[in-house]
Amino acid sequence: MEVKKITLYGDTPTCQLGGGVLPECDNPAEYDMPTVYGPWAYLCEEHYQSHTPSGAGAIGTHITWVGDATRTREVGPESFGPHAFGVDVRP
Ligand SMILES: [Zn+2]
Repeated sequence: MEVKKITLYGDTPTCQLGGGVLPECDNPAEYDMPTVYGPWAYLCEEHYQSHTPSGAGAIGTHITWVGDATRTREVGPESFGPHAFGVDVRP
């Protein structure tokens, strides 16, 4: 399954998985995906492989972050994920 690729403006966030029972994860987040726990999260490559339910790639997105923090709008009409929509990515 090819994961849909989008581009968002802003600094690359760190992976949101980690903490609690998992070790903290400071890897750069490349994916916006549902997790095995239910909520969507920005995930690094490693946690995308290990902590998303089967089929997640069909509805999640692969995000390329371009570091222009002055803009938060998506690049095109197709270029947003359900989780990313409405999220302010500015630091
Ligand atoms: Zn991670």
